[in-house]
Amino acid sequence: APAPVPTTLDAETLWRQDRDHFVHPFTDFSVFHDKGCELITDAEGIHVQDIHGNRFIDGIAGLWCVNVGHGRAEIGQAMAEQATRMAYFSTFNNLSNAPATRLAAKLAELAPAHLNHVFYSCGGSTANDATIRLVHYYFNRLGKPNKKRILSRHNAYHGTTYLAASLTGIESNNWEFDTLDGLVTHLSEANLYRRPEGMDEAQYCDHLVAELEATIAEIGADNIAAFIAEPIMGAGGVLVAPRGYHARMQEVLRAHDILYIADEVVTGFGRLGHIFASEAVFDTQPDVINLAKGLSSGYAPLGATLISDRLYEVLGTPQGKGGVLSTGFTYSGHPVSCAAALKNIEILEREELCANVREVGPYLEQALATLSRHPTVGDVRGSHFMMCIENVADKDTKALFPVDARVGDRVAFEAQQRGLIIRPVGHLNVISPPLIWTRDTVDEAVAILDEALAATAESLRRDGYL
Ligand code: PLP
Repeated sequence: APAPVPTTLDAETLWRQDRDHFVHPFTDFSVFHDKGCELITDAEGIHVQDIHGNRFIDGIAGLWCVNVGHGRAEIGQAMAEQATRMAYFSTFNNLSNAPATRLAAKLAELAPAHLNHVFYSCGGSTANDATIRLVHYYFNRLGKPNKKRILSRHNAYHGTTYLAASLTGIESNNWEFDTLDGLVTHLSEANLYRRPEGMDEAQYCDHLVAELEATIAEIGADNIAAFIAEPIMGAGGVLVAPRGYHARMQEVLRAHDILYIADEVVTGFGRLGHIFASEAVFDTQPDVINLAKGLSSGYAPLGATLISDRLYEVLGTPQGKGGVLSTGFTYSGHPVSCAAALKNIEILEREELCANVREVGPYLEQALATLSRHPTVGDVRGSHFMMCIENVADKDTKALFPVDARVGDRVAFEAQQRGLIIRPVGHLNVISPPLIWTRDTVDEAVAILDEALAATAESLRRDGYL
């Protein structure tokens, strides 16, 4: 790893305050009480730095969100200017602000032709949560109040509000937590690596579409409002569906008047080489696209729901009883967040970062594929700047290591020791870089991963797991 840079922060005090007072999201308390957290204090371009001055390549874009990279002074400046001019005012009751208005128009311009209306939220969970409420409202207003059920998928990740957690299909995410009963039906995820034996890709696609058809037949289309899916499943394992899957799923859904909601919280804003992946990559025309993360590159919290003209026609009809569209958040269309997003989009366009991803992405895919030679690497998958390594104990049987081997943590630790941050997710490791990675960065990162995987195999052998 590069030599530490001196820091002026009191590391010991901050570490203790954090451990004693900050309840972190997704905390592993089996290690937190002893080890506490690592404080990241500085960031510039593709690098971040911890409180001790150690510098790392950011291999996860913060949390799949810092798409334009760190330390963009012009975003900070746009936010500061807006915060100084007018930091906040309501967007309820026919009030608005200029950045939220401009951003809505910009999103409508960038989105597929039929998506021209934007509902703002505070992040991905609230975007999904608000969407389900809007979809239910839509069908209520159409006089179809039974259309309530939402089809999601096992291993989907849609967030952690009560409603978003209920959409989420990663079982371990909801251990000891409650979810809503009877609202969501989870279909199988599209997992090519672990598909039923003997099926080729096309047969597997048929199989998944047949499952959707059977589920609709069982529940009844009159009781189903929508299907929600990530174009590439992210936190559930960076699962790329078989070719044609999304378009065929949409075809079936359309035939039954079931809406298609694309959760593009991760795939949106360049990660797959396009501002929106739904139409450009997967040939779908969703009724709704949900956005967060890369929308503002994480410089400020922001979520958005892009709504089709067809839905808006109903949502935008006066209620007639003096009622209003009573949903939304104090921070819907927050001016400072929207100012950050506008500048973020300007940078994405000016620096042609989608083109960079289309150019460097396949190179990253190929470079990571070479890691398959390691004994623990069962699968390297993903697309462009959304990649994943699946670690296994046995490549032939695809058997996993016992959970207590913490294989994903081991790989991430070894990589971090060598100057690269990647994300452990159970037995997986996710690589989702800022969109400014170059071929040179890929070479550097993959060389580190190569060493990290060798060191991991050694440590697994030492501890009797391999
Ligand atoms: N949807 C997807 C696909 C996500 O990956 C995430 C977060 O990782 C969310 C929704 C939730 O977003 P947030 O954490 O901003 O609420």
